[in-house]
Amino acid sequence: MNNKDLPGLYIHVPFCKTKCPYCDFYSITDDSLIESWLDGVQQEVLIYNKEGFSVFDTLYLGGGTPSLLDEHGFERLIGILRDGFSFVPDAEVTIEMNPDDVTPSLLACYKALGINRLSLGVQSLQEEELRFLQRRHTAVAAERAIEIIKSSGFHNFGIDLMYGFYGQTRKSWSDTLNRVLAWEPVHLSCYQLTLSEGTPFGRMVSEGTLHKITEEQERRFFTHTSHFLRDRGFIHYEISNFARGKGYCAQHNMKYWQRVPYLGLGPAAHSFRDNVRWWNSRSAEDYCRLLREGRRPVAGREELSSDEIRLEKLLLGFRTEDGVDIDDIVGQSYGREALARLTSSGVVRIEGKRVLPTLGGYLIADRLPIMFFS
Ligand code: SF4
Repeated sequence: MNNKDLPGLYIHVPFCKTKCPYCDFYSITDDSLIESWLDGVQQEVLIYNKEGFSVFDTLYLGGGTPSLLDEHGFERLIGILRDGFSFVPDAEVTIEMNPDDVTPSLLACYKALGINRLSLGVQSLQEEELRFLQRRHTAVAAERAIEIIKSSGFHNFGIDLMYGFYGQTRKSWSDTLNRVLAWEPVHLSCYQLTLSEGTPFGRMVSEGTLHKITEEQERRFFTHTSHFLRDRGFIHYEISNFARGKGYCAQHNMKYWQRVPYLGLGPAAHSFRDNVRWWNSRSAEDYCRLLREGRRPVAGREELSSDEIRLEKLLLGFRTEDGVDIDDIVGQSYGREALARLTSSGVVRIEGKRVLPTLGGYLIADRLPIMFFS
């Protein structure tokens, strides 16, 4: 196993101060469970350590809102992980932060404990848009947080943004991008707002009290974002992700798209190894209780068939600029015919042994794999 194939470790910190109405990640606002959740993570570490998960080259603390942990909670978490597992010396160690939680002392604590990459959830720098998204921070607070991050010497920091919602204009979106770029982040994640069923925004859409933008508007926002950032020196290396250079692509997330093993600990966390996926209970109470009783908190497991593996390689590969191996496509005659057709229509291009999505390919990345199957 070379270094590139070492597994990544994800920790789901399932606590948020408030719930955003568009979010369908699992999180709760009751922080009284933090110590029990930490006990649970400690038990899971012991379980997986016995099952061959031992050395990692990435650690990603996501959520939820990991920056809600105070210094004591954070130190305990890192202690648990370092006691049970090993990390290569240059491991990428990322934490997601909410702007309201950024303080010089918390950043100093992160640095002392080995965090070397920050991901700040800004979403927008327009006060009105932040109110619409019901974020707990303001645009002023977000810029202050970035300033603190910069003066704390964290060079490797990224910013998460959101676009494509009703009422947002191309002008306001460009203004947010311009103001964010002035802070010189090395990574940007730009997510199109999805209005999932089961979220408050999703319900408002079905009731007719919230409007979606049209598919054509979505397409224009996406294309504008890609051109805007590529013109300013970013690589559009994954549908929603942009980096200042290859060295700043999110190594941990690359594992998901390249089907490298990863272990997820915490409620609702997903794991993958040897073509098997499994995921934990989407309930912090059940997660803690099961582990207290010495049981696993796994809620589901699937072993992929060879057809599912092939489809998944295409689904994940076409999300990234690295695309897919041509051998995963031309094995069947219809694959070869589809490749010729899709190359001439300009949604993919061939470079050596790779089939790469173009910007038009990114736009239909979720449908592209099916086109090679029939
Ligand atoms: S802070 Fe993040 S994880 Fe928490 S509710 Fe909002 S979007 Fe979801």
